[in-house]
Amino acid sequence: MPKAFVTGHPIKHSRSPLIHGHWLKEYGLDGSYERIDVAPVDFGEFLRGFAARGFAGGNVTIPHKEAAFLGVDRRTARAERVKAVNTLWIEDGVLWGDNTDVAGFMAHLDASLGTGWEQNVDTALVIGAGGAARAVVAGLQDRALKRIFVTNRTLAKAEDLVRDLRPGSAVGLETSAWEALGRVIPHARLIVNTTSLGMAGQPPLALDLARAPRDAAVADIVYVPLETPLLAAAKAEGLKTVDGLGMLLHQAVPGFERWFGVRPEVTPELRALILADIEGRK
Ligand code: NAP
Repeated sequence: MPKAFVTGHPIKHSRSPLIHGHWLKEYGLDGSYERIDVAPVDFGEFLRGFAARGFAGGNVTIPHKEAAFLGVDRRTARAERVKAVNTLWIEDGVLWGDNTDVAGFMAHLDASLGTGWEQNVDTALVIGAGGAARAVVAGLQDRALKRIFVTNRTLAKAEDLVRDLRPGSAVGLETSAWEALGRVIPHARLIVNTTSLGMAGQPPLALDLARAPRDAAVADIVYVPLETPLLAAAKAEGLKTVDGLGMLLHQAVPGFERWFGVRPEVTPELRALILADIEGRK
């Protein structure tokens, strides 16, 4: 019976067990997926010991993504670019690490805007420069865009991100000062919030979307609430919107396939299940 886990510290609020539990039931698989709280001081030992405890692999979340990146034997090209690992598995005795936030964000963007959306987008604006921003920029870099502006409250972090992700990029990567957002928005046909602004309990991300191109799309990777103030403002402007829940669901697909051998589908039923949990209806 394949066993998998999600580890973080704390971990009790993770929705990953609900997602993987749904798929295990859906596909009639005899496997398990459990939460394991591991303090940072114990993470190295956990990483080296999970296979001996019978686990095929698992997910890694805050605060262990960088430690997992440093601790694995081999990394996928995407994990290498993002410098963080959120998915682990063993292959021929080798401990592998991937970053599935990249594929998760892109899969949901494609599903929401339709494949080929990039034909209409030459400039994208990514707001934020944390771990999630790195995954979003790494995903967008694989597409035929002309340039991506990255802006962040702390500009030095945006500069670090651009410096790390620029080598080999066919897409131009540029930083923009937070105060200059108003000058970038009129050129951006894709705007992505990767900051925690707009999350329940946080102030909203206030952008002047009246200045955005009329055919722009606005994506938010925050998913609690599902409709963030930014997405509500974008809708009010008649712009296309992409919510953050799809990224969470799609990032789980590659891990499940590795551990349990079936490529699962992100269905409306799964989405409704997680949404009910987010909204406290479950
Ligand atoms: P992180 O590494 O801690 O980065 C946080 C980002 O938010 C930084 O750019 C930070 O700017 C910015 N920020 C925080 N408070 C701010 C404020 N008051 N004003 C302006 N900027 C502010 O976190 P992360 O892992 O990238 O996650 C960011 C968000 O994405 C979280 O809400 C997380 O839940 C969400 N997320 C969603 C998914 C999904 O599957 N949908 C996946 C990953 C993350 P500074 O650098 O200036 O501090």
